[in-house]
Amino acid sequence: MTRDDNSDPTVPDRRETRLPGWRLLILGGTAEARALAAAVIARPDVAVVSSLAGRVAEPRLPVGEVRIGGFGGAAGLAAWLGEHRIDAVVDATHPYAARMRVSGIEAAATADVPHLRLERPGWTAQPGDRWHRVPDLPVAVATLPTLGRRVLLTTGRQSLAAFAPLADLWFLARVVDAPDEPVPAHVRLLRSRGPYTVDGETALIREHRIDVLVTKDSGGALTEAKLTAARHLGLPVLMIDRPAPAAPPATVTTVDDAVRWLDRHLPAG
Ligand code: NAP
Repeated sequence: MTRDDNSDPTVPDRRETRLPGWRLLILGGTAEARALAAAVIARPDVAVVSSLAGRVAEPRLPVGEVRIGGFGGAAGLAAWLGEHRIDAVVDATHPYAARMRVSGIEAAATADVPHLRLERPGWTAQPGDRWHRVPDLPVAVATLPTLGRRVLLTTGRQSLAAFAPLADLWFLARVVDAPDEPVPAHVRLLRSRGPYTVDGETALIREHRIDVLVTKDSGGALTEAKLTAARHLGLPVLMIDRPAPAAPPATVTTVDDAVRWLDRHLPAG
C-alpha cells in the first residue's frame, strides 16, 4: 500500500506495517478529549486508550479504556508508546497543561509516532468587555490589587498558592477539589465544576459582591458564562494568557478535524 496524495509528508505512513488493529493514545482531561474518544471508539479498526493525569479525585471519564497517572516525563511516555504499540497520539490536554504538551511532542518524536494537538480556541473579547490580559500567573498576581478587592478566582486549585501573598484581598475560589497548598488568608472555597449559566454566574457575583474576575483563557462554552456575566455587570476581568509553545506542533481546534486527521493517518475500517 502506498501513501495517498493528500497525506502529510512529515508523518510516517504506518499503514503498510500495522494493518489492522491500530492503537490511538489520547492525552486527555478535557471535554474535547472525551468527545474524541467517543467519536473514534466505534471504529472496529482502532483501539483507543485515554490517559488522565489523576489530579481530580472523581474525574469525568471518557468512554473506552482509560489509564491514570503520569508517565515519568517524555522518556517515560516514549517508552510507554513503544510498550503499548501505539500508532498515533492526539494530545487533547487542557491549553494550560504545558508540561504534558512538551512531553507529548518529544515522546512522539522519539517513538516515531504521528502526533496531533487538539486545542480549543481561546475566548475573544466583545464590546463591553473590560479584559486585562496578562502573560502569566506572576504578572496576574502583581496586577490584581490594581483591579479590585473582592475576587472571583477561577484559575484552579494549582494556582491558589500564587495568590497567597495578597492578604488584603478577599477571594471566592472555585475549585474542583480542595487545594493541598497554601491559600490566601481571606478565601472562601467553592467546590464545583461546570457547566455554568449566565444567570447562575450573575447571582454568584452579586451575592459575594465580587468586583473582579480572574480566569485563564480556557476557551469553550462550558465555562464561558462568567465572562458574559462580568460583561453585563461591568466587571473587570484579569485574563491570564495561554502558555505559548516554543515550537507549536500540528494543531487542530475541533474534534471533527482531529477525526479527519486520524482518517488520513489511520486506514479506513
Ligand atoms: P501539566 O502541568 O502539563 O502536567 C504535569 C504532569 O502531569 C505531566 O508532566 C505528566 O506527568 C502529568 N500529566 C498531565 N496530563 C496528563 C495526562 N493527560 N495523562 C497522564 N499524565 C498527565 O498538566 P496540568 O496543568 O497539571 O493538568 C493536568 C491534567 O488536568 C491534564 O490532563 C489537563 O488536561 C487537565 N486539566 C488541566 C487544567 C489546567 O488549567 N491546567 C484544566 C482542566 C483540566 P509525567 O511527566 O510524569 O508524564
